[in-house]
Amino acid sequence: SASSFGGGDATIGGSGKRVPVGLKKPSKRVVVTGGAGFVGSHLVDKLLARGDSVIVIDNFFTGRKENVVHHFGNPRFELIRHDVVEPILLEVDEIYHLACPASPVHYNKDDSFCFIDCFKFLTIEYKTNVMGTLNMLGLAKRIGARFLLTSTSEVYGDPLEHPQKETYWGHVNPIGVRSCYDEGKRTAETLTMDYHRGAEVEVRIARIFNTYGPRMCLDDGRVVSNFVAQALRKEPMTVYGDGKQTRSFQYVSDLVLNHVLVPFIFTIDLIYPFIFELPERTSDDRYMKICQVDGLVALMEGEHMGPFNLGNPGEFTMLELAEVVKEVVDPSATIEFRPNTADDPHMRKPDISKAKEQLNWEPKVTLREGLPRMVTDFSKRILSAEK
Ligand code: NAD
Ligand code: UDP
Ligand code: UDP
Repeated sequence: SASSFGGGDATIGGSGKRVPVGLKKPSKRVVVTGGAGFVGSHLVDKLLARGDSVIVIDNFFTGRKENVVHHFGNPRFELIRHDVVEPILLEVDEIYHLACPASPVHYNKDDSFCFIDCFKFLTIEYKTNVMGTLNMLGLAKRIGARFLLTSTSEVYGDPLEHPQKETYWGHVNPIGVRSCYDEGKRTAETLTMDYHRGAEVEVRIARIFNTYGPRMCLDDGRVVSNFVAQALRKEPMTVYGDGKQTRSFQYVSDLVLNHVLVPFIFTIDLIYPFIFELPERTSDDRYMKICQVDGLVALMEGEHMGPFNLGNPGEFTMLELAEVVKEVVDPSATIEFRPNTADDPHMRKPDISKAKEQLNWEPKVTLREGLPRMVTDFSKRILSAEK
């Protein structure tokens, strides 16, 4: 077998006693749509590291081949350039559906960052969320695969409930400039539940709150990447509106990968079979516990379908965020106020009690711990781009 998680091949002993297998689990065939993007590429690293076979579907709209280039040559990795708006035939066990042009900068027609025709972009965004999700659900239905949707805290709109629980229905302007994203994801959630109820597809829904970390697009207009890139380039950090609106920022490892635990898991996995003889169920339990270091995989592998808020409840105003970036990147960094975009949510903070209780998951990395790790990656990329 090409793909096992660490140690040797598993063998079931005839006596009913088990030859030790450590943390080995049958490897899965997994599709990650949007796997060349920021979150997707970290997820792909994680799935390959534990022995799964991974097919990435990406049209490189906001993603980059560089994010997955380190897997080229791995026989368990495949990259397909494909737009999920078009149907596709594949045979897999699980589908992580992340594909979505998720950068807010494109909402702003007059914004100097905007690099393509905006009207077209909005259509693409809504189309991807609706037709792309429909195709992936059709695929899941045909092959009996489990399907996970990465929805967003944007489904809560400009919330009237704070912090937001999964039971809150949201406060969204259906005809506003952000609605292609908000309503697109709300429709994607609707389709997901329809396929679950109507076609018995096994589904999972994650509502991801603002996430940052290495491999984020440098100029995609999100606030953390903007502030960090601006401070590194010695430009003023652009604060939209009065800067008193709040967001809660999650480091990407909490969402998909725990960097500290992975080497540790591998070591344990290698020595484990030589030390213990355990019935299979016990090793599975251990495996599940270790898997639950991260939100998306915990959700996919768990028994609850969600929706689950996956985010860090640490709440910051944009002015406070600018202060933290200043501390971490450059104490002489300055700020500059700019007009805010329409319908910008005034506050956002996840209530994560449901994920804590049902997925045994909670974020571990604070903004002050996570930001320096992102800054290291950003300064390398900005330097090499400017060379
Ligand atoms: P990203 O832009 O880095 O990744 C999205 C990927 O999808 C890119 O690689 C892009 O090329 C690809 N893609 C877009 N349209 C496609 C299409 N039609 N066909 C195939 N591929 C397509 O964004 P991300 O931050 O990694 O977001 C991943 C998912 O998580 C998205 O669904 C996003 O809505 C969700 N999410 C992210 C955040 C966050 O803060 N990062 C917050 C909430 C939700
Ligand atoms: N689909 C796909 N791959 C598959 C199965 C379906 O891309 O393996 C697409 C299919 O082309 C359709 C969508 O998923 O556009 C929904 O499929 P479903 O079978 O649910 O709907 P129907 O085709 O019956 O309208
Ligand atoms: N924002 C800002 N400066 C920037 C980019 C964004 O002040 O350069 C603000 C934006 O107005 C919003 C918040 O930061 O209030 C978060 O914006 P982002 O686009 O990162 O995420 P979202 O609005 O989707 O939560």
